[in-house]
Amino acid sequence: MYNLGTLDTFGEIRKIIAREIPPEARLTKVEFEGPSIIIYANNPNLLLENSEPIKRIVREIKKRVIVRADPGARKKTDEAKKTIEELIPKEAEITDMNFDEGTGEVTILAKKPGLVIGKGGSTLRDIASSTGWRSTIIRSPPLKSRIIEQSLYYMGKEQDYRLDFLKKVGRRIHRPKIYNNGWITISALGGFREVGRQAILVQTLESKVLIDCGVKPGAQNPFDEFPRLDLAEFDIEELDAVVVTHAHLDHCGLVPLLFKYGYGGPVYCTRPTKSLMTLLQLDYLDVAVKEGRPTPYGLKDVKKVLLNTIALDYGEVNDISPDIRLTLHNAGHILGSAMVHLHVGEGLHNIVYTGDFKYAKTRLLEPATSCFPRAETLIMESTYGAPNDVVPSREETERQFLEYIRNTVQKGGKVLIPILAVGRAQEIMLVLDEAIRFGSIPQVPVYIEGMLQEVTAIHTAYPEELARELKNRIFHKGENPFLSDHFISVDDRSARSDIAEGAPCVIMATSGMLTGGPALEYFKLLAPDPNNTMIFVNYQIEGTLGRSILRGVREIPISDSIGKIDVVQVKMDVKSVDGFSGHSDRRQLLKFVNNISPRPKQALVVHGEESKCLGMADCIRRFFRIDASAPSVGDRLRIK
Ligand SMILES: [Zn+2]
Repeated sequence: MYNLGTLDTFGEIRKIIAREIPPEARLTKVEFEGPSIIIYANNPNLLLENSEPIKRIVREIKKRVIVRADPGARKKTDEAKKTIEELIPKEAEITDMNFDEGTGEVTILAKKPGLVIGKGGSTLRDIASSTGWRSTIIRSPPLKSRIIEQSLYYMGKEQDYRLDFLKKVGRRIHRPKIYNNGWITISALGGFREVGRQAILVQTLESKVLIDCGVKPGAQNPFDEFPRLDLAEFDIEELDAVVVTHAHLDHCGLVPLLFKYGYGGPVYCTRPTKSLMTLLQLDYLDVAVKEGRPTPYGLKDVKKVLLNTIALDYGEVNDISPDIRLTLHNAGHILGSAMVHLHVGEGLHNIVYTGDFKYAKTRLLEPATSCFPRAETLIMESTYGAPNDVVPSREETERQFLEYIRNTVQKGGKVLIPILAVGRAQEIMLVLDEAIRFGSIPQVPVYIEGMLQEVTAIHTAYPEELARELKNRIFHKGENPFLSDHFISVDDRSARSDIAEGAPCVIMATSGMLTGGPALEYFKLLAPDPNNTMIFVNYQIEGTLGRSILRGVREIPISDSIGKIDVVQVKMDVKSVDGFSGHSDRRQLLKFVNNISPRPKQALVVHGEESKCLGMADCIRRFFRIDASAPSVGDRLRIK
C-alpha cells in the first residue's frame, strides 16, 4: 500500500550542492536551518556575483537556499560594524545593529530602510562582500514599541538556543519520507459551528500540522473555552508545525499552552503577527491575573513561542514537513493576517484556509487574495454568513459615525468609543484623522488609551504591509496619520477624570465590549451626562455589558476594586455603527467563493454560529455546485 521514497534526504541534497558550486567559491559546509538550506563558503562573493549555480540548485531541490560566509571568512563584529557604518548613508539613520554569531546575520534597525538596502539591493551586497555578514533590515518604528524592542533583545540573548532549534527543525522537515500515499484528514478541534477557540489539525500519513490554537472568550465553562486537544488524534509529540493565521486571541491565545505541554517545534506566521501575538498573549495573562482567574500558561511559555517562531513573508513558499509546503497570503483582516495555503505531497492535494478575512478594501489594508496556484479544498470562515448579515457601505458607515461625533461635540459632550485594540482601532484612527484634517468634524483631541498605543506603534513598524494609499502617504509624502497631533496617548490613569470633566473630545479605549479595561472606567465617568455619546463600532457578544446596554438596559450595577457595588445610571446617548468590520459580510463571502481561482472541489464552512455555517454550506452547494459541509467540533474528515 505504500512505498519507500527517500529522494530528498540530506545526503542527496549535499551531493547536488557539491556538484554545482564552483571550486573557487570554496564550499565548507551545508546545513539545514528551519525550512532553509544554508551553504557556507570561504569565498561566498563569487556566488553573490554569479547566481547561476544557486539558481540551478534551487530548481533541482525546490527548497529555499541561503549563502553565507564561513565563520572564518567573516570580519569581527566591531570591524564589521565600522564598515557597515561607512557603507550606509547617514540619512538612513541607523538606530541599532545586532550581530548573530550563530547565523552570521546582522540585523540593522534604521529609520529609512530603503536607503540601507540601496538600488536593487546594492548596499546589502556591498555589506556582504566586504564584511562576510548577511544583513536583515528592520524599520525602527517612529513610535516606540516596547514589544519589538524587548523581543529583539530577548532573541539576541538566546542566539545559541535559536540556532540549535533551527537546525533541529531543518532536520525534521527534511527527514526521509516513508509513505507516498494520498491520505489527508482534517480534525475539527475548535471553531467549527461556533466562533472562538479556532484549531484545525491537518494530517497526512507523514505529518501533522495544527493551524491556529485560540481561546473562546466568554465561554460558559472551561471545557468550551479551549480547543479539543484531548482528542485521540491530537498527539503533541508528533506535531510537525503550528501555523498562526493572525493575532486575535480566538486564533493565537493558546499557542503558549502547547509549549507548556511539551511542544518544541516551529510556529509559522507573518512578521507583524509575531509582534502582535506576543503582545496579546502577554495582555491575556495580565488581564487574567487582574481578574483573579487562573492562567493556563506562564510568561516563560509566551517567551518560548517567540523563540520558536519562524516569520514568513506573504507569497514565500516553504517546506514545513516532508510532504507539506506552506504559503501565506494576505487576508485583509488585520495587520499581518494570513490565509494559509498547504500544498500536500508533490501535487497530491491543495488546501486553502481563509482564516478571518475581508474580501474588500479598507483604509488600513488591501483586500484578501482570491488567486491561488491550486486549491482543491477550501476551508472558509462565516462569521457574517447569515442572509441578513449585509453591512451598510463604507461611505454610509463613516457618514453616520462622523455625524454622531459632530452632534455630540456641538452640544459640548464627549464621545466614548469602546474598541478592540488590534485592527478596528487603527481603522477608526484613520477615519478620525481624515475627518479632522478636512474639517468634517471639529478639531477636538482624540485620547488613546490602554494597549492601543503599543498596537499602533507596531503598525508604524510595518508600513509596507498597509493599504496602497496609506503606504504611499507614509513613504512618498512623509505623512503618517498614526503620528498625527490629534492623537493624545494617555499614559497615566489619574488623567482619566480630568479628561471626563474637561472640554469636548473623543476617547478610544479597550475593551471593545465593556467587559473591563479603561473603557469601563470612562463609561462610569461619562454615562450620567446626557450630552455624552457612546458609539459601539464592533459586534457585542451575548453576555457582555456592551450587549445589555445596546439592548436598552439603563441601570448598570458595577462593583469597584474593593467589591462595593455602584449603580451607574446611563443617561448618555448610546449608538452602534455596523460596517467597520474586518470580516467579509454575506455578500463578500459569496463573492469570494465566486471569484476564488481555481475553483475548489469541496468546501468546509467554519468560524460562525451553527446556523450560519450550515446556511452558508447549503448556499455554496446550491449556487456554486461545490461539495460543501459544516463539520462540528470533534469531527474528523478524510478529504483525500
Ligand atoms: Zn480575527
